[in-house]
Amino acid sequence: MSTILIEDGTVLTVNTECEVIANGYLFIEEDCIAFVGRGKAPDLVRNQAEEIIDATDQVVMPGLVNSHVHLFQTLIRGLSDNRPLIPWLEEVAFPIYEKMESEEVWLAVQMGIAENIRGGSTAVTDNITIPLDPELYDVIFKVAKAVGLRYKMARGYSDTAYPEALMESGEEVISSTQHLHETWCQGDDLLSIDFSPNVVWSTTDDTLLEIAHLAKDWGIGIHIHTAEDEKENDMCVQTNGLRQIPWLHKMGVLDHKTQLAHGIWITDEEIELLADTGTSVVHNPVSNMFIATGVCPVESMGKAGVPVALGSDGQAVNNGQEMLDVLKWAANLQKINSLDAAILPPEKVINMACRNGAYAFGQTDQIGSLEPGKKADVIIVDMDSSRLTMPTLSVTSLLVNFGRSEDVATTIVDGKILMLDKEILVLDEEILQAEFRQARSRLLERAGIA
Ligand SMILES: [Zn+2]
Repeated sequence: MSTILIEDGTVLTVNTECEVIANGYLFIEEDCIAFVGRGKAPDLVRNQAEEIIDATDQVVMPGLVNSHVHLFQTLIRGLSDNRPLIPWLEEVAFPIYEKMESEEVWLAVQMGIAENIRGGSTAVTDNITIPLDPELYDVIFKVAKAVGLRYKMARGYSDTAYPEALMESGEEVISSTQHLHETWCQGDDLLSIDFSPNVVWSTTDDTLLEIAHLAKDWGIGIHIHTAEDEKENDMCVQTNGLRQIPWLHKMGVLDHKTQLAHGIWITDEEIELLADTGTSVVHNPVSNMFIATGVCPVESMGKAGVPVALGSDGQAVNNGQEMLDVLKWAANLQKINSLDAAILPPEKVINMACRNGAYAFGQTDQIGSLEPGKKADVIIVDMDSSRLTMPTLSVTSLLVNFGRSEDVATTIVDGKILMLDKEILVLDEEILQAEFRQARSRLLERAGIA
């Protein structure tokens, strides 16, 4: 049985009491957390450890859940300045999406996985919003499995309103999703799949009704960009006579396995509908600020009981995918919007990224906190750098307000060490980066952006 002891660290449990253990240990047996405790591990536990990680001056905490990202966009960061959502889609995203080739998508996904591991994300919901060569979806699952990341593919589609080259038929989407679900997601809780209409206005009613029915049948979720821009509600009223949330409810989409990416332009009445159906919202503050779409009503949603998770969104609208960065912006965006410095304290932000992330991921009982019996998705953050020197009054505050990706030292998923002392063990980053740079130059040249 493989065993790891992490000792002498500050353990941020993110349990329901937000318990922080100033000097504690965590013991992993195979894929699960066996013990979490104060002080030194008892000899009985220590003697069983195959590997011992010294976490002195480090924080041991649950892995972050990046609940909304587009890994293929890792290749197109830095191209989206100064545009709101729909002009950004039409003028930047669609033309470059149409030029992307399979090998480039594959490299972008791997590079995105490496960046998420570096940033302490142990579970990632990867929303693929472009149609790929059919085998490429399998290749992506294969890579995620080989790496050992907890990976959910939100298998995106558009079957109306998008450029011709970016659309698929409803039949193609359903058969591909069924194949991927049956091939990769049976009996493996590291891999999962959701149906994912890209946006509310890019799916036909027939396909939306069908996938809402099939998702319940197969026990999978639906992941969809919703109410990101105010204009999208106007478009929905014009087409369907209802705003987006009541429309999705009417179509049978709102459910405890459904995640709405963004959820900015949502009324109090609509928030109640989300709470009643157990639907989660994924807040992406950096992306929302970058393309100026608005401020998600996180406080009202939290009060109503809507689980609000956090995501980086894609590189095209964030220019990074670092979740520690997202934590800070999530807190500060709510503060400036409400002029209330206490509206979203660090503990709540961490909770959004961990426990609410676990809910949105569909694994509430497995991940999101460091407790015996839960899966060993653990990160260790180095607090001894020149910026993050302990001791401090609040480790949680320090993490949220000063933490950066480069402070994450170790990333463990399902009991497997993916990164140790800042070295990724499961991907050859040097080769990957060289190939990635060449692929990016080729893509930009073909797209006429070089
Ligand atoms: Zn997105």
